[in-house]
Amino acid sequence: MLKRKQYQFWFCAGSQDLYGDECLEHVAAHARQIVDELNASGKMPFEIVWKPTLITNELIRKTFNEANMDENCAGIITWMHTFSPAKSWILGLQELRKPLLHLHTQFNQEIPYDAIDMDFMNENQSAHGDREFGHIFSRLNKERKIVVGYYRDEDVQDKIASWMSTAIGVIESSHIRVMRVADNMRNVAVTDGDKVEAQIRFGWEVDAYPVNEIVAAVDAVSKGDIDALMDEYRSRYQFVLEGRDEKEFMEHLAVQAGIEIGFERFLEAKNYQAIVTHFGDLGGLKQLPGLAIQRLMEKGYGFGAEGDWKTAAMVRLMKIMTEGKKDAKGTSFLEDYTYNLVPGKEGILQAHMLEVCPTIADGAITVREKPLSMGNREDPARLVFTAKEGFGIATSLIDLGDRFRLIINEVDCKKTEKPMPNLPVATSFWTPRPNLKVGAEAWILAGGAHHTAFSYDLTTEQMCDWADYMGIEAVVIDADTQIRQFKNELRFNSLYFRK
Ligand code: MN
Repeated sequence: MLKRKQYQFWFCAGSQDLYGDECLEHVAAHARQIVDELNASGKMPFEIVWKPTLITNELIRKTFNEANMDENCAGIITWMHTFSPAKSWILGLQELRKPLLHLHTQFNQEIPYDAIDMDFMNENQSAHGDREFGHIFSRLNKERKIVVGYYRDEDVQDKIASWMSTAIGVIESSHIRVMRVADNMRNVAVTDGDKVEAQIRFGWEVDAYPVNEIVAAVDAVSKGDIDALMDEYRSRYQFVLEGRDEKEFMEHLAVQAGIEIGFERFLEAKNYQAIVTHFGDLGGLKQLPGLAIQRLMEKGYGFGAEGDWKTAAMVRLMKIMTEGKKDAKGTSFLEDYTYNLVPGKEGILQAHMLEVCPTIADGAITVREKPLSMGNREDPARLVFTAKEGFGIATSLIDLGDRFRLIINEVDCKKTEKPMPNLPVATSFWTPRPNLKVGAEAWILAGGAHHTAFSYDLTTEQMCDWADYMGIEAVVIDADTQIRQFKNELRFNSLYFRK
């Protein structure tokens, strides 16, 4: 089973020793109160830990290097309650390797009109101190997230919480290891790419294994373990025989149970959190892994079909960023298949041969067994469902040769107008923003793939912030996208990212 670390975020107020001990005591007490209130808000997905006020070059450098070394520290939140000369931060910031959120807030919400004097102004000058602090980031050209507003405001707390998930994505990216059990599909361009550059940029390790090594792990699964998993399938899914002999149906299903257990054991033993397969390179496997891969995705593994390791890593990344999210609606690998071009009802039918993650399912999930239209194996068992309605983001990470580009399209997921009884795969149906024509044109102009990593539970802002931290290009296709502007953006970006 995939494990998650108990991450924490450090809260560091900045100041200086010019204001005397009493003022510094207030700074520390106020910072502690903000930390306590944020932790008690129920909105923070991770604990915030108060750290002593940073007032000197030495202490800032020491604290940030401790943050670098601390496995549980996923990022730093800073706030300049008073003024903190920013030259003191240069060395520490140059050495900091964890994500940083600059919380531009204030301890008091309202100016205390009757009581305000110069002592109050000296103590409460984040409007002043946070500008000095922000300047040095811009000067150093370092990435940071800025959140502005009163710390008790719900939207400010939501933004901090949302950034925490992004920071986890940054930290966890370098722990993603993708297992390839086959190479990329022959002659396909968009699913391929530079794995060395991916490791330099994102920290991803992408390794290949001969398919029959993992087949040996599948063959080693005991009948008892398969039977136990079959009981779980019976309790969770409705089997649709569609005229098949029941015994034969269950034998086919048991093959997927063996693949699920064998694959998971292999992934665990070798410490991989994402996997790619290829329908044309199955070695001794009796079926294309369908239901097995769907359930591994549900458990948090990344997946990409036809050797698509970039999408596999992105699915894993997005699952990490949404793990534990309250009321999460799901994250999956998907593929653009076919259009509905009827005016007013435009959309793209999303599916794959089999491998769609059941976390995005809406309602009952059935198990069906049908022939694949390609390959030479048994009819594989797969989970069939339709996806939830609502807002989501579809992302595609592509390799342009000299850089990676992340394409993010905001989409509105809908139900298809009618059921599709003859289509034995899980599906989603969405209309890209701003509409199908502009959305698809922009996607194609940007070079986006037919495979996507999709989530209902992440925002464009989070993915753009993640891309910024990784130092890669991100382009957004949303309600405001206009083709001429978008084309120019691609041109401008090609200059900015030129090596
Ligand atoms: Mn595909």
